[in-house]
Amino acid sequence: MSVPVRTRFAPSPTGYLHVGGARTALFSYLFARKHGGAFVLRVEDTDEARNTQEAREAIFSGMNWLGLDWDEGEGKGGDYGPYNQSERLAIYDKWFEVLREKGRVYEDGGAWRFRFERKPVVMNDLVCGEVTIDYRDESNTPDMVIRRSDGSYVFHFVNVVDDLEMKISHVIRGEDHLMNTPKHLQLFEALGAPAPLYAHIPLIQNPNGSKMSKRDVGAAVGDYPRQGFVGPAVINFLALLGWSPKSDEEIFTMDELIQRFSLEAVNRAPARFDAEKCAWVNQQHLLRMDAAGFAEAAKPFVVEAGLPTGDGYAAVAGLVREKVRLLSEVPAAIGFLLQDQFDFEPEALEKVRGNATAKDLLAALAADFAKLGDWSADTAKHQIGETAKAAGAKPGQLMFPVRVALSGKSGGPDLGDILGLLGRERCAKRLEDLVAKLA
Ligand code: GLU
Repeated sequence: MSVPVRTRFAPSPTGYLHVGGARTALFSYLFARKHGGAFVLRVEDTDEARNTQEAREAIFSGMNWLGLDWDEGEGKGGDYGPYNQSERLAIYDKWFEVLREKGRVYEDGGAWRFRFERKPVVMNDLVCGEVTIDYRDESNTPDMVIRRSDGSYVFHFVNVVDDLEMKISHVIRGEDHLMNTPKHLQLFEALGAPAPLYAHIPLIQNPNGSKMSKRDVGAAVGDYPRQGFVGPAVINFLALLGWSPKSDEEIFTMDELIQRFSLEAVNRAPARFDAEKCAWVNQQHLLRMDAAGFAEAAKPFVVEAGLPTGDGYAAVAGLVREKVRLLSEVPAAIGFLLQDQFDFEPEALEKVRGNATAKDLLAALAADFAKLGDWSADTAKHQIGETAKAAGAKPGQLMFPVRVALSGKSGGPDLGDILGLLGRERCAKRLEDLVAKLA
């Protein structure tokens, strides 16, 4: 067993990077890294009519964002290039000649067909197990065109030639290619080269069991950054789509995935895409970030919302790290701490209105805050209890109206943290403002 591990991701640049493609890339990447091998990025851009520059760039930027760094291909070079199929015509011609000399192709109306060997072909897929196609039944398996009459080569041929030339040891790809593989095995044999091992990974379905297509929610990797996901979380989520860690753990870093990944643990059954789960995984990754890293990651969203991110921003952002699932939720969660104008959640306001004593309690607290000796989160919080008690109420009856007065919300960071950060004047002012609103 001395064949070096070499895997590849071979996308066609005809649309944006789809989560299914990203997952294929991830599994190929994890397998290569785990075995100290190479991960190749090959662009299958032979369909001139459907290729676009945007799609090429979406592939590269999506993979970069996910942290799927390739060893050979675009921007990296490598010993087996070029890595764009559109630049490999001479290589395809050379191997086509090999087949012609061996009598394995024949002309048919200007196109060239590959002559299948009429025998059963058995493949042992590393995920799907044994699959047999019987080529003795010619009506079911007619010889396939590998070169069109315009001289261009079809997918099966260029895909095989490239895997051969690039010395790919393991082809990991979507199950939609499973039934192509016997054709590919026939080609490898005819070209006189050993075939790689194949692992076909199950398709991704929508929550309702239908096949996930390009237009479905969550399908485009390019949408994830601006929705507030972080790359490591999406990687983690994609890994769980079809791979089982064989334990209750669900949250993994890329390094942990590399250590634990195996093709044996890839499920045979289709994976269900679950957007809620993806957001939950994202939250778990946000919780594992340090405060500074979290603040930095959230910053573009806060800036975009027009909020100030000067001194004190990082401390403010840190207060909501445990309260959000997506970075895009941060501006709404901290706006009231960064500036004085904020909206009231209608339900929170209604709840305060429903509390007959709230207005008087808030007014009393505003007055008591003014009299407080020194201001700190603790003294301010303590005062809430004292003011409530003096009015014959329970502290809890005042806590909620105070929270709503200070933030406009029914939930959020610890009340003491809010009091400490806003300071005496701003707190008193907000209490008075709500009193006026309730009058
Ligand atoms: N270009 C093919 C696709 O995107 C590659 C299939 C393969 O990985 O062999 O489906």
